[in-house]
Amino acid sequence: MRKISADLIYTISSDPIPNGIVTIDDDGTILDVSPASNEEHSDAEYYTGIICPGFINTHCHLELSHFRGQIAEKAGMTGFIKELLSKRPGFSAEEISRGIEEAEAEMIRNGIVAVGDISNDNSSFSQKAKGNLCYHTFIEVFDLHPSQAEKVFGNALALKAELKSLESTHASLSCSIVPHAPYTVSEKLFALVAEEAAKSPFPQSIHNQESAGESELFLSGSGPMFEAFQRMNVDMQFFPATGLNSLRTTFPRLSKQQNLLLVHNTFTSFEDLQWAQEQMKSSITSGLQPPASQLYWCTCPNANLYIEDKLPDYHAFIRAHAKMTIGTDSLASNHSLSVLDELKAIESHQPGIPLKALLTWATKNGAELLGLDKNLGTIEKGKKPGLNLLSNIEKETISAGTQVLKLI
Ligand SMILES: [Zn+2]
Repeated sequence: MRKISADLIYTISSDPIPNGIVTIDDDGTILDVSPASNEEHSDAEYYTGIICPGFINTHCHLELSHFRGQIAEKAGMTGFIKELLSKRPGFSAEEISRGIEEAEAEMIRNGIVAVGDISNDNSSFSQKAKGNLCYHTFIEVFDLHPSQAEKVFGNALALKAELKSLESTHASLSCSIVPHAPYTVSEKLFALVAEEAAKSPFPQSIHNQESAGESELFLSGSGPMFEAFQRMNVDMQFFPATGLNSLRTTFPRLSKQQNLLLVHNTFTSFEDLQWAQEQMKSSITSGLQPPASQLYWCTCPNANLYIEDKLPDYHAFIRAHAKMTIGTDSLASNHSLSVLDELKAIESHQPGIPLKALLTWATKNGAELLGLDKNLGTIEKGKKPGLNLLSNIEKETISAGTQVLKLI
C-alpha cells in the first residue's frame, strides 16, 4: 500500500483537491482519495506538481512507428499520403517490429495507459498480446471500388479473428472494424462495416475533415484530393460529388449503435459540430441507438501541424459542448507519442482552455469512448487508472517546460 500526495490532485471526477492524498493497493487499485488533513501523514510520498489519472491516447497507428522522421512536414494531406505510400515497402519486418516495440515503451513512459490503435495489418498484434499496455484495436478498411468491398471486408474479419486468437488472461484484445475516411471507402463497404458494427458494443472510428481538399472533393468533385486521385488513376465513377461536405455525406453511413469517434476534425465548423451532435441525438430518440452511446471528437494537434499546419478551432468545440479526446496519431506524422505534448500544442496555439477541460479530454473522455471507464480515466475508489505527475506547471497552466512522470 502507498499513500501519494501532491500540490493538487486532479481526480477529474471531482474538483481538484489541494494536497489531497491518494491511497493505493500494491496492484495500483485506488483504496481511498481524501482531502488534506491535519493528522500527520508521515508515510505519504509528497510530490511538487499536479497528479492526474493515466492518459488515454484514442488515436494511434502503432504499425507506422518505423516512419519516425521519415516523412516531410507540412506537405499537405496528398503530399503526406504520396510519400508514405512510396516509402512503405522499404522497411524490413524487423524494422517494423522494433519501431512498434519502442513506440509502445515511449507511450508507457509518457503516462499513457490505454490506446485506441488503428491496424491495417497484423504487424502490431504480437506486441499488443504481451499485455504491456491496454489496447482497443480499430481494424481499418478502405477501398473505393464496390466490387472489392466483400473481399476487403473479408480480410478485415480474418484480421479480427487473428487478433482475438491472441487474447489471454493478461491481454484483453478488443477490436472493431472501422472505415478509414470519407474519401477512401465505397458506399457498399460502409454498409458492410455498419452492419457488423451494429452487432458489437465496441466503438467505431473514422478520420474526418483532416484537410480542406477532403470537403472540396465532396462538395464539388474538384481540388487537390480529386486531382491526386486522378493522378493515381482511381476510377472516380463511383465517387460522385454529393454537394455536401465530407462529414454530412458520411455521417448517415456510420453505425450509431455504439460510441463513435471522429478523428482530426481540423476543418469542422461550429455548424457541422452542432449538426452531427443533433444527428446522434435524434438517432437515440428514434430508437436507432442505445441511449448510452455518444459522439466523441478526437484531436491530434501535432499531426495536424505536421501535415496541414492547421489546427481545429477548439473554442468552437467547447461552445458546442463536444466531447473531446486526444490522439497522437502515428510517428509518421508526429515527433513523439505523448498526450502531454498534444496538450502543450493546444495550449501554445490556442491558450486559455482550462486545465480541467484539457485533462478531461486526455483521460476521462477517452476512457468512456473505449468503454474502459470502469477502471480508467478518473481517480476514484475501486478504479486502477494509473497516476501521472505533471511538474513544472505554473498557475495550473501547461507550458513548454511541463513534464510528465508516470508514478503508477
Ligand atoms: Zn490516423
